[in-house]
Amino acid sequence: MRIFNAVTELRHYLDTDLKTSKGQSVGLVPTMGALHEGHLSLIKQARNDCDVVVVSIFVNPLQFDPSEDLHQYPRPAAEDKALCQAADVDAIFVPSPQHLYGVSYPSLSTVTQVVPPTSLTSRLCGRSRPTHFQGVATVVTKLLSIVRPTRAYFGQKDAQQVAIIKRLQQDLNLPGDIIVCPIVRSSDGLALSSRNRYLSALECQQATVLYKSIQAAEVAFQHGERSRDRLLKSAQAVLTTEPAVTLDYLELVHPDTLEPLQTVNTVGMMAIAAQVGKARLLDNTVLQAIDRPSHALERLPIIAIDGPAGAGKSTVARQIAHRLKLLYLDTGAMYRALTWFVLQQNVDPADEAAVARLLPQCKIQLIASVENDRPQPPKVMVDDQEVTQAIRSAAVTRQVSTIAAQVAVRRKLVEQQQQYGFKGGIVADGRDIGTQVFPDAELKIFLTASVQERAQRRYRDLEQTEQPLPAIDELAGSIAERDRKDSTRSISPLRKAADAIEIVTDNLTAEQVIEKIVELYEQIAGQLTASR
Ligand code: AMP
Repeated sequence: MRIFNAVTELRHYLDTDLKTSKGQSVGLVPTMGALHEGHLSLIKQARNDCDVVVVSIFVNPLQFDPSEDLHQYPRPAAEDKALCQAADVDAIFVPSPQHLYGVSYPSLSTVTQVVPPTSLTSRLCGRSRPTHFQGVATVVTKLLSIVRPTRAYFGQKDAQQVAIIKRLQQDLNLPGDIIVCPIVRSSDGLALSSRNRYLSALECQQATVLYKSIQAAEVAFQHGERSRDRLLKSAQAVLTTEPAVTLDYLELVHPDTLEPLQTVNTVGMMAIAAQVGKARLLDNTVLQAIDRPSHALERLPIIAIDGPAGAGKSTVARQIAHRLKLLYLDTGAMYRALTWFVLQQNVDPADEAAVARLLPQCKIQLIASVENDRPQPPKVMVDDQEVTQAIRSAAVTRQVSTIAAQVAVRRKLVEQQQQYGFKGGIVADGRDIGTQVFPDAELKIFLTASVQERAQRRYRDLEQTEQPLPAIDELAGSIAERDRKDSTRSISPLRKAADAIEIVTDNLTAEQVIEKIVELYEQIAGQLTASR
């Protein structure tokens, strides 16, 4: 594990030692240190999703008011380092204010700051901490700009921070996807926080009333209660049982806009902040009806199927989507559609800059298609033109891997694929679905077969066509070569995700493979429903 203090050192490591610009994914976990299981859950998710994990540890003076605990904030440097080491972190970035801001005492008069919209900063914690989120937005902008991560990880515990960072990233076009991880609690429900260190054993126990109160609202909500007043009342009734807790606010708001809600129609968030002893503590719960998933934290499951060419991924994925009434996301068709568009525009597919210029003009849409109750390849539209057949032409087939290997192309299409997956309920197949597109998929399958088996299948397919038949060994040679290229290319190489289930299909029929995956999916969907 490497430790860096200076921005230039960290950048040199990312650019030169790791060559991250060549396609290695980077996960950033920004923290203020005094690490606990909540932080470690973010690190674990980043480790699972990304090639390189960077944790920043910085107690940011800009987000503390002069009356707050900047100087008392715990800084157990050796302990934090050991925890990062044990969590297999690649690098810790531990700048001083001087390293990060160029001055030891950053303030409005000495450094540029980022001001998020007041509609987000004036509510909830913003009422008692008016400059806090400006400090948070400034430091997060700097960290995203310095590290340029593929993904940055934040905890739902700081829900207002999450809403602000999502907007900040959108409004300033900052790099990286924002990944939000669930709240980690102690066994008695208290949300873990570095500031829990300020609490005595008795205060820790008293502080559990925060969670108990929002839980009461959650129970009322699950019994059908949707009105603000009554949801708040059920939480307040529990809160009043613990006089040691001084309430700052208890609010019902929309989790993204933070607007107060009178009724929870689709989704709401009950958020609480209170002082217990020396610590200001936060907690929240997202209220959402299970049958109306519209929030990333409670979406329908995603099935990600990866594997080498010719393993039968698309046949299996399409049938599974049909059986389970999920959307089949044919990512290969999206790369083909873009290739078709590039060729239509008479642009050389190898001219990366010209392809990147075309990207904003190409609107690709996939529409599920079923005939006589049999699932068909999805209908593919580019703008308003149907190209389902056209994208299967030999010219497109020849060029699609050149297009799919380009950074700008992958960024755009992966983003679109992730949008399709926002509400879950999809089956996607490709080479990097479980590793890059949906690293948080509930079910990841790595579908493979020996080279010989895939060569024989391809041979049988060719026998059905008019095309000339090559020798089996020749087919096997080209499949092995394609495997080598797919798994060694610098952008999103084919890899089995650590948590993927490998299915070797040599001695299985497509039906047996489908059966197996459907069974796994049903187990997972059952567990998810039971845990909600
Ligand atoms: P902090 O060090 O308090 O700035 O937190 C760093 C990151 O860890 C933030 O994104 C927090 O939301 C997240 N975090 C802190 N506590 C928890 C927790 N109990 N569960 C999940 N994430 C947390």
